[in-house]
Amino acid sequence: MDTNDVIRLLGEISLVDDRVVKTDTAEQRAQVHMWAAALRDVPLDFAGEAVGRHYAGSAWPVMPKDITARWRDTVRERMSRQVGTFEPAHHPDVDPDDQYGNAYVAALRAGRSAVMTGADAPRELRELVGRVGRTVERAEATEGYLAAKAALFPKADKPAGPAGPPELAVECPACEAGPNRPCQSVQRGRVLSGTHGSRRDAYAAQHGVVA
Ligand SMILES: [Zn+2]
Repeated sequence: MDTNDVIRLLGEISLVDDRVVKTDTAEQRAQVHMWAAALRDVPLDFAGEAVGRHYAGSAWPVMPKDITARWRDTVRERMSRQVGTFEPAHHPDVDPDDQYGNAYVAALRAGRSAVMTGADAPRELRELVGRVGRTVERAEATEGYLAAKAALFPKADKPAGPAGPPELAVECPACEAGPNRPCQSVQRGRVLSGTHGSRRDAYAAQHGVVA
């Protein structure tokens, strides 16, 4: 977050706790400066949520360290789930033979930082393992594949309720959407039009479908 984000955050904090924000103008400027330096890597959304969690469990005025500690835990947890595989071939700008080229490094960095900030869900091992041996990828689904899939998931077997793909019947391991609830993006909770790969795998596993 930048200086403007910090000013917004402090403004919100001052609504719930008048002990935090300095009243003297010079002190306030120094405070904004210090918070902006401490919270440089933390997205504003996350900081706002961390402040809420802090006040849910503490009577003390919130400090930058209360936010950065939660941020570090979250990043560590996300990165521990990210298996770190990377397919440069999936990135049109990247020459897979130029592994140490700028585009490769930039794409790698972008992918990691998307996981750190929560923009992308971690690419988890089970999500990758679920794909191993799957001969037909979604992108190249053929009519035969679609027909075979329709036979595996006949319409009568679909759960009652909102129309949608059959995997909606199971809880999503990626975003923890409950049965018959749509998948959501992990950070902002935005409803996704599709479903997470691991949810399709979970459905296939529960229904004994050989992927
Ligand atoms: Zn999901």
